[in-house]
Amino acid sequence: SEGVVTAVARALEQADGARRLEVRANADTPGDAARARRFGAQGIGLCRTEHMFLGERRKLVEEMILARDDFTRERALAALLPLQRQDFIGILEAMDGLPVTIRLLDPPLHEFLPDRTELAVRIATAEARGDLPDPHDAELLGAVSRMHEENPMLGLRGVRLGLVVPGLVAMQVRAIAEAVVERTRAGGSPKAEIMVPLVGAVEELRIERDEVQRVLAEVSAETGVPITCPVGTMIELPRAALTAARIAEQAEFFSFGTNDLTQTTWGFSRDDVEAEFFSAYLDKGVFSTSPFETLDREGVGRLVQIAVAEGRATRPDLKIGVCGEHGGDPDSIHFFHGEGLDYVSCSPFRVPVARLEAGRAALSGTPSSDTR
Ligand code: PEP
Ligand code: MG
Repeated sequence: SEGVVTAVARALEQADGARRLEVRANADTPGDAARARRFGAQGIGLCRTEHMFLGERRKLVEEMILARDDFTRERALAALLPLQRQDFIGILEAMDGLPVTIRLLDPPLHEFLPDRTELAVRIATAEARGDLPDPHDAELLGAVSRMHEENPMLGLRGVRLGLVVPGLVAMQVRAIAEAVVERTRAGGSPKAEIMVPLVGAVEELRIERDEVQRVLAEVSAETGVPITCPVGTMIELPRAALTAARIAEQAEFFSFGTNDLTQTTWGFSRDDVEAEFFSAYLDKGVFSTSPFETLDREGVGRLVQIAVAEGRATRPDLKIGVCGEHGGDPDSIHFFHGEGLDYVSCSPFRVPVARLEAGRAALSGTPSSDTR
């Protein structure tokens, strides 16, 4: 097996010498970042910050989102700030010298808020026992009911959350900026990038980006440390792809979120691919592989082409990547290479496969304009 290891190492070396696509990883913890780096990742293309708010911190997020007064919200944000700062310090350290694209909070609300039914049952059970229900439960139920959405995946997520929860963006950006300052003072080379999710209109991005720039400048002035931090956006809604020329006015980079883009282009729920009709579609040959696994070139692929052309018409040096599941899919990687993307970002374990495939795409001589 020494021979196999050597052969793989040689193939990877050849691929790295040939490929034009950069390969980054999706990682949210210092451990994953370090692992990705060992697999040859050239940075983090997607750090999903919502994963950092689970566990014990979930209570604070709940408090922040449901707060009816500034004091409660600000207290929750103040408690979250040092925790977030530590998260980012660890990740920037593990990826020192390489780009780390940190995405602002993008949870569908139902993943964070307590379950309405559970609360109602708890209250009813207490009442049935003749006890007074916990007043906190009653208050929570009211708040959760006010925020209830029938379709949370199409609801208060991504940039929308940033625009309506006061202080949320400022807290996350301050944590990132302070982590950059701390790593810089420690002699490191932090290369953080800030990414805004679920943008559909340039106005959303403009408002959020102004806030991001304001906080970056504030922290830089306070500390005397210059902070360079590109701000970009996910392209994961058809409207974003179609208006990419305008969106590029406010974005230093694009990253295709092909999971949401597939969901919103086909109108298929990404959380229900086990649905019966889905396998029937495969059987009947409507498609031969799931569009969530292999990039659908006629639909999502067309939107990618449009967004690349429009975005670069506005900003020729626009950096463009992909961080959806397709970033680690061999067939899709050939497509992204052909469309002139700069990088793909995938799970750490897929990094070697992506390196090989990006090398094969370059060696197969796929011209940049060809979609293969
Ligand atoms: C996507 O939508 O493709 C994406 C990368 O973001 P998430 O999967 O976190 O929605
Ligand atoms: Mg998404």
